[in-house]
Amino acid sequence: MTTPLNQSNNTTIAGKVWLVGAGPGDAELLTMKAYRILQSVDVWLADDLVSDDILALAPPHVRIVPVGKRGGCPSTAQGFILRLMARYARSGLQVARVKGGDPFIFGRGGEELAWLRERGITVEAVGGMTAGLAAASALNLPLTHREVARGVAFVTAHTADGTSPDWVALAQSGLTLVCYMGMSRKEQLQQELLQAGFVRDLPVAVVERVSCRNERCLMTTLDALSADIRHAGLGSPALLIIGKAVAHRVSAAPMQATLNLWKRRSDILDQIAFTDVS
Ligand code: SAH
Repeated sequence: MTTPLNQSNNTTIAGKVWLVGAGPGDAELLTMKAYRILQSVDVWLADDLVSDDILALAPPHVRIVPVGKRGGCPSTAQGFILRLMARYARSGLQVARVKGGDPFIFGRGGEELAWLRERGITVEAVGGMTAGLAAASALNLPLTHREVARGVAFVTAHTADGTSPDWVALAQSGLTLVCYMGMSRKEQLQQELLQAGFVRDLPVAVVERVSCRNERCLMTTLDALSADIRHAGLGSPALLIIGKAVAHRVSAAPMQATLNLWKRRSDILDQIAFTDVS
């Protein structure tokens, strides 16, 4: 639903924070709502996963403040980002906290929303396409499959306290795993999965910079995972998709066939309209 960005009562303008999911990189994967908010606010506090194509959409009046928090790199402290959002909003500004993917998938969206609410600051989340979903369609790879995968789990291989997900339970579940933040500890991850009972020849897709111009992918098996990643020179940001469903990837249609189909599409539509399709 459309809500006015500025809720004014003649004298004051209420500031507000929008936690906006910007998707994995391709500007066409922004939701229309995210686009509308991004065009209307005063300031963007932008994650380092927000792509250049998205940043290029900022209208001239918008102030962009980069507040990257990439794991393992020097980054803006979370407390500083929270206080900055609060300060802008209390000054009556409309603030977009722009995050890669979806704010609620490994994006600290929940923490930020709660912190701002506790301080009486109006805040609203706007979902985005998480990188794992974009990777599935980029590769023509079903995350669920009625014969081999009854569900999907979004997991992180990297936690601040050094703990891991319950890999044994996940191995037994048969779910497809979409693993975020796994590249910096790919060797340990591979060992942990093998020890937990995942089979050596389980197919794995690795997708770097999904939906961006320099997207790259690798199809491998759990057994060869870290060696193949090293050999291909893939790095962050990248996702691992692990499970039997990965073997059901369909290779892309040849571009020429698609172009021919477009050329003839009105003829085809005419024919089908007058054909008994039962
Ligand atoms: N909120 C984001 C995830 C942030 S955690 C989302 O919903 O997508 C950061 C991790 O996300 C990265 O380490 C990487 O594993 C993954 N990631 C984010 N953007 C990506 C992209 N364009 N391509 C591949 N992986 C990506």
